[in-house]
Amino acid sequence: MMEQYLSIKNRYKDSLLFYRMGDFYELFFEDAIIASDALDIALTKRGKSNGKDIPMCGVPFHSADNYLPKLIKKGFNVAVCEQTETVEEAKLNLKKGPLKREVVRIISPGTLTEDNLLQRKNNNYLGAISIFNGSISVAWVDVSTGYFKSRLIGKENDLNQKQLLTNFMLRKDFSEILISDDMDMDYIIDEWHPILKKQSPSLFHYQSCFDQICSYYSVVSLEGIGSFSKGEIIAAGVLLSYLKLTQCGKIPFLSMIKSENINSFLEIDYFTQKSLEILKNLSGNSEGSLISSIDETKTASGARLLRQRIIEPFYDLNLIQDRYDVINWILGNNIDINNYQNCLKAIPDLERSLSRISLLRGSPRDLLLISKGLLNTKEIFENLTLDQQKNLKPKLLNSILDSLKIDYSLFLNITKALKSEVPLIAKEGGFIKDGFNAELDFFRNLRNNELNQIMKLQRKYSELTKISSLKIKHNRMLGYHVEVRTIHDQSIRNIDLFIHRQTTAQASRFTTNELVDIETQILNSFDKAIKIELEIFNNFANQILQKGKEILKIVNSISELDISFMVASQSVFRNYVCPNISNDKILEITGGRHPVVEHQMRLTQGSFISNDCKLNNKDFIWLITGPNMAGKSTFLRQNALIAIMAQAGLFVPAKKAKIGLFDKIFSRVGASDDLARGQSTFMIEMIETSLILNTSTEKSLVILDEIGRGTSTFDGLAIAWSVLEYLHEKIKPTTLFATHYHELTVLKDNLNNLSCHRMSVKEWNNSIIFMHKILDGEADKSYGIHVAKLAGIPSEVTEGAAKILSDLQNKNQTKKSYSKEVFTINLKEVENFLKEFDKIDVDDISPRQSLDFLYKLKLKRQGIGKSKFKK
Ligand code: ADP
Repeated sequence: MMEQYLSIKNRYKDSLLFYRMGDFYELFFEDAIIASDALDIALTKRGKSNGKDIPMCGVPFHSADNYLPKLIKKGFNVAVCEQTETVEEAKLNLKKGPLKREVVRIISPGTLTEDNLLQRKNNNYLGAISIFNGSISVAWVDVSTGYFKSRLIGKENDLNQKQLLTNFMLRKDFSEILISDDMDMDYIIDEWHPILKKQSPSLFHYQSCFDQICSYYSVVSLEGIGSFSKGEIIAAGVLLSYLKLTQCGKIPFLSMIKSENINSFLEIDYFTQKSLEILKNLSGNSEGSLISSIDETKTASGARLLRQRIIEPFYDLNLIQDRYDVINWILGNNIDINNYQNCLKAIPDLERSLSRISLLRGSPRDLLLISKGLLNTKEIFENLTLDQQKNLKPKLLNSILDSLKIDYSLFLNITKALKSEVPLIAKEGGFIKDGFNAELDFFRNLRNNELNQIMKLQRKYSELTKISSLKIKHNRMLGYHVEVRTIHDQSIRNIDLFIHRQTTAQASRFTTNELVDIETQILNSFDKAIKIELEIFNNFANQILQKGKEILKIVNSISELDISFMVASQSVFRNYVCPNISNDKILEITGGRHPVVEHQMRLTQGSFISNDCKLNNKDFIWLITGPNMAGKSTFLRQNALIAIMAQAGLFVPAKKAKIGLFDKIFSRVGASDDLARGQSTFMIEMIETSLILNTSTEKSLVILDEIGRGTSTFDGLAIAWSVLEYLHEKIKPTTLFATHYHELTVLKDNLNNLSCHRMSVKEWNNSIIFMHKILDGEADKSYGIHVAKLAGIPSEVTEGAAKILSDLQNKNQTKKSYSKEVFTINLKEVENFLKEFDKIDVDDISPRQSLDFLYKLKLKRQGIGKSKFKK
């Protein structure tokens, strides 16, 4: 057995080998040590190798599902090795030694299909990175849903390639990444090291990758599929090879691979995604994130699509407008939103069931789920067909309807064939209804008759032996047998009919020829019934797979509809409005609200104060001042979130919104306790700011909150000042800039496209009230001490602080008069210098003369260049 184990393990060195022995999966040697530690289970030993104990640990096969997720989450691959012959088969073949075993599947973090190992609302991506002729490409696949995409990240010599790759990969949150063993690790950030799976460079060979794709889709060229860079083909081919390997030859049903253009999305880099709390809050939980506040989708695939949209919204006017058109059609035609949403609620996770069926891991339950789900889809299709007569139908709705128009009879048949409660595994049968298949009924009846015969036999033997407690029972060891209490043992042995099989302390067991005959018949009819059920199952599964492409299209349409109905309902119940979207430079939001804060306030009966934002071509930088707690950050973020929602094709929390498409959104919060951990907070702040200054464009939206806070006041002020000037003069992105440096407000005098705004506060009884309302103009005071009072700082401290503040302000006055001194130069001396300079004929001067002249210059420079302050 150990020999067999080692030869299999040798082929799956990178995985923990779950070696099936009876009712357990056992692990040996190094695997056992790793797994016992990772799973916190006992490490034992079994036998010896080279005189040393062999470490071993194991998990019961029926509870493997409890242990697998722990290993997978820790980044391990698990190779599941099963017995592939039964004891009976081995006996028939007169085989000695252990039963035949084979690895039937390698489970890795990026290739999961089981619902209990996956998150319902999140995609689970396996990615591959390739570098071909200096340009980076990626391909990624979600095996559990059949989603398959590729993208050229950057061209050769593109200095941003690493940045773009990092942003993309972080945003998508990959579970596993494949790279070539010889890839330049400079491109790979530290966070990914645990999820990298290095592959042999030979796998990254262009022609073989091309062939993999062609063979998977049964095509001879990829032209009909789309246009791909060579790097994309390599990355996609590598994924297919890896899937073949890990699924032991079976490849899941994947949608047609699609190449995405990196420029067709609004780029939200990872730090912005974090800072705006799009998928998670600052502590890493989903509570209080944008997605958790707005996600009211009804289907799992709809929820996944919404996530994709939010992390990579559109950068294409038409695609956004198409979505708005459908939502407006729903709202404008009195469509019963509730009715549709109830139908959507009843649609299960079709993609995941389809994927399991394609990997031969499907169950009767998957057949039933797909069929019932698609019959609900049919209902939606029929309702929409009726509803669409109400008015001109939008383009996207037409294509949705087209994809839903399929022949649903297969699914009706399946629901007719399957019982309403079906088992989770097919191989034990029992899921086809009586009356669906005559042959199956025949064998089932036969089995029932035979079971009746056993009951008759029991009565007969009981009368014959005069033992009323005689029973015919069944167990795995003996099969059907006659059982009496041990005291009757001898009296039964005296009757020839009974053949002794076993005696225990309590019972004696016998068999008879009659019983053996009936048992054989029962087993035969049982086997035949199961065989028929399995045939029906496989037949249905194959028919479903033949419709796989159509089913994936349906899922996509259902997800679009799900989001559309969600938005329509939010328009009614949350007062979200349809933005007016254009290619102009504009972010004009009237009565805007923060989707998350407003949602939370609604739950606590608070009321959110709405605010206007009017950024446009002429006034594209807003400098916002106001004390801490006045609502600056909330205002900044709400506008960024509204822009993101709009480009994701959603309606937005505002009275009116005019939004010009943004190519990128950046949001940075100056060093704060939340973000600063360990490293120099100021350094992080500056790295992030430099990224914005280097990569934003005129079409970007930049949100800067308290930049420069991580250093001393004057440094910080100087940096914030300079950053603002640079943005205004050089890049010209639409910018919201919040600061507590009131000094910055003088910039409005020189920078024409910048205006000042303030969060209003009211002083009342020596205290302040935050109005949370944005007004024109600049704030005049910082109110820091008032906020400290509000926070419960003892009055002795705040009063002390007030005194220090007034002293400092007085000193500052004196300083100010000093700083008003002016830097001047003596003009007469400059004139003399220039005269002398003009005398030189540069073409007719010897090296010696020029050197002398330089010395002279140096002397003069000391005289005239000295800065002088004039009182
Ligand atoms: P700042 O950035 O000026 O320090 P914040 O934006 O962090 O202030 O807001 C402080 C508090 O005020 C938060 O708890 C926030 O929920 C609340 N708040 C901010 N804006 C509003 C608003 N428009 N309506 C109601 N509450 C608000």
